[in-house]
Amino acid sequence: MATINYLRISVVDRCNFQCQYCMPAGAAMSYPPPADWLTREELRQLLSQVFVPLGFSRFRLTGGEPLLRPDIGEITADIAQMPGTQDLAISTNGFLLAAKAQALWQAGLRRLNISLDSLDPLVFQQLTGGRDRWQQVWQGILVAHEMGFAPLKLNVVVIPGVNDQEVLDLAALSRDRPWHIRFIEFMPIGNDQLFAERGWIDSAQLRQQIRHHWGLEPAQVQGNGPADVFQIPGALGTVGFISQMSECFCDRCNRLRLSADGWLRPCLLNQTGQIDLKTPLRQGVALNWLRQQVADLLQAKPAINYTMRQSGATGGYDRTMAQIGG
Ligand code: SAM
Ligand code: SF4
Repeated sequence: MATINYLRISVVDRCNFQCQYCMPAGAAMSYPPPADWLTREELRQLLSQVFVPLGFSRFRLTGGEPLLRPDIGEITADIAQMPGTQDLAISTNGFLLAAKAQALWQAGLRRLNISLDSLDPLVFQQLTGGRDRWQQVWQGILVAHEMGFAPLKLNVVVIPGVNDQEVLDLAALSRDRPWHIRFIEFMPIGNDQLFAERGWIDSAQLRQQIRHHWGLEPAQVQGNGPADVFQIPGALGTVGFISQMSECFCDRCNRLRLSADGWLRPCLLNQTGQIDLKTPLRQGVALNWLRQQVADLLQAKPAINYTMRQSGATGGYDRTMAQIGG
């Protein structure tokens, strides 16, 4: 069984994009007011006095779009400076990155994942909803690269008939720059219609396509996460595949997820077992009581992981991926 030492922290439940696969148009979204978000100080207390003592050392800030949170720089600095932090990363759509990269660097951040589902501005616009924002995202990626963020990972959710024809072009980004492309199998979470219309593509098929074109060898360094990582011969970066649809890696799951409004969730595909940390924290309970609640959840997690593995998570799902944080 995996050691559970990785916490994904959603710092804000809203987003400036509306990606079709994450936050479909017409999805019934209900947002708690920002006063319900865990504050910087509450996050600091929970991390340093509940999670780190339980062995958590790897943290990722996500959203919604985490760069929308006004105090993202301060939260990043708190976690980067916390004794016990061994790894800190942010997942972002990159739209505000050019403006915020320097503050994040100064706060101590070195690792970024940026979503980039298409190199075609029009496809990108259709996928992410709203206006043409590809250029600004690309600029954000270039600024982060120039600043030295590494490893710099680009996340691609592959949707048949939408962006699958760009797999080679996206993989090619790893050849001349030390960028790490992560192809993610499209998951049926809160997007019933799109998933029913489009379905998903097996990572094995994408790997075959890339192998056929350039060859593909196992990367020398494998990450700590669920990606299977490869390298196009001679490339500076890597291509990885996150295959949660075609493979079951629930037994290797090393993470919990904390939502912006303070709910701790043991499994992405499963709503049972969640606990509310914010309400007792605001009521002033002792932090060692909260620590025990989380310790109990860690014990329960392996059994919870498998519960909805087969059925997926369409229908009756209260939170979208944007609210959970991916
Ligand atoms: N807004 C940030 C971003 O887009 O990177 C962070 C939050 S987003 C929910 C985190 C990750 O979840 C992104 O890489 C996104 O592509 C992925 N994601 C969202 N919905 C998904 C789905 N239905 N299947 C697979 N991945 C999904
Ligand atoms: Fe897109 Fe990320 Fe926003 Fe979801 S949270 S709509 S993936 S930018």
